[in-house]
Amino acid sequence: MKLFDVYPLFDIEITEGKGCHVYDDHGTEYLDLYGGHAVISVGHCHPVVVKAINEQASRLMFYSNSVINPLQERLAEKLGKISGYDDYQLFLVNSGAEANENALKLASFHTGKSRVIAFGKAFHGRTSGAVEVTDNPKIVSPFNDNGHVTFLPLNDIDALVKELEKGDVCAVIIEGIQGVGGIRIPSDDFLRVAREECDRYGAVLILDEIQSGYGRSGRFFAHQYSGIRPDIITVAKGIANGFPMGGVLISPKFTPAYGQLGTTFGGNHLACATAIAVLDVFENENLVENAAKIGEYLLDNLRGLPGVKEVRGRGLMIGIEMEYPAKDLRTRLIKEEKVFTGAAGTNIIRLLPPLCLTMEEADEFLTRFKRLLETESPKA
Ligand SMILES: *Cc1c(COP(=O)(O)O)cnc(C)c1O
Repeated sequence: MKLFDVYPLFDIEITEGKGCHVYDDHGTEYLDLYGGHAVISVGHCHPVVVKAINEQASRLMFYSNSVINPLQERLAEKLGKISGYDDYQLFLVNSGAEANENALKLASFHTGKSRVIAFGKAFHGRTSGAVEVTDNPKIVSPFNDNGHVTFLPLNDIDALVKELEKGDVCAVIIEGIQGVGGIRIPSDDFLRVAREECDRYGAVLILDEIQSGYGRSGRFFAHQYSGIRPDIITVAKGIANGFPMGGVLISPKFTPAYGQLGTTFGGNHLACATAIAVLDVFENENLVENAAKIGEYLLDNLRGLPGVKEVRGRGLMIGIEMEYPAKDLRTRLIKEEKVFTGAAGTNIIRLLPPLCLTMEEADEFLTRFKRLLETESPKA
């Protein structure tokens, strides 16, 4: 059988990882400023996480959600404490898109409405419901063009208020910081108005913190810079450091009904043990504070480099907008400088490193990036 040919982008096989480095099948070391797409939160193969996986795998990997799973309760308790959402309820799933699907469903159950507001350049995942609220012409689904979703420009307060005033909106879904959209930050004012107006008109405010959450922004959740509390928060990517997992944090005002949501694999024992170990590392190594500190250092030192038009971001979620298309630059970073980064749009290099990135590793990246910029010739 052949693979369905939608991947890969680079002809490289990564076989090992440690901290902020990965190694290919020839033993070449790469600095990982991409975190395997914002997934590696506490560093590759962190010993605490590896140990938790090994121990749980030899005891019990999975049993059905029809019985009590104390690991889920332990994870909920830990996540509540570290995130500041102790009073919220947790529903565990397997991926980001699935978390958003469940968030949207809950919003419609709760309000009895079905119209959703999402934003230009948004990315919320690739399953049917998630694609519906994703504003990307490359991944639309013709089955879902049902007129339920209105896209508005991010940070356009007047447009948002005007839509909510119609009274038929079920949910507003916003990324904590837009990732795929090119590291675009919803302003604090915009989030505060969204919070007030959702309350006034009975809409559910959903914050998709799948990429921006779990410490990446320098706060546990990116929206916490604004002081608002959403009704629902979705998480995935970094929550189990590469083990597939997602979660929905749900305000206490939602009353669950037996059987309302469900999943076979969501919240399985192995995933929960991994996610608990990840939070242990967050606490022991002060990773949220580290992301804030190293992120600020990178932002300061990236501004004004040759060919750099604008640098945006918070913590270790950084977009470097170039004056020219950045595709070659990303490839040359990998091939010549042995640095993995992400990309966004045509002109943006996206940094999403593990949150344990050290000052020395940040400097190493800056040295290699500068070296490349000095020899990169702008292409119109
Ligand atoms: C990655 C991502 C998703 C989708 O997560 P999957 O695990 O790929 O389904 C949704 N929203 C945001 C903001 C993301 O970055």
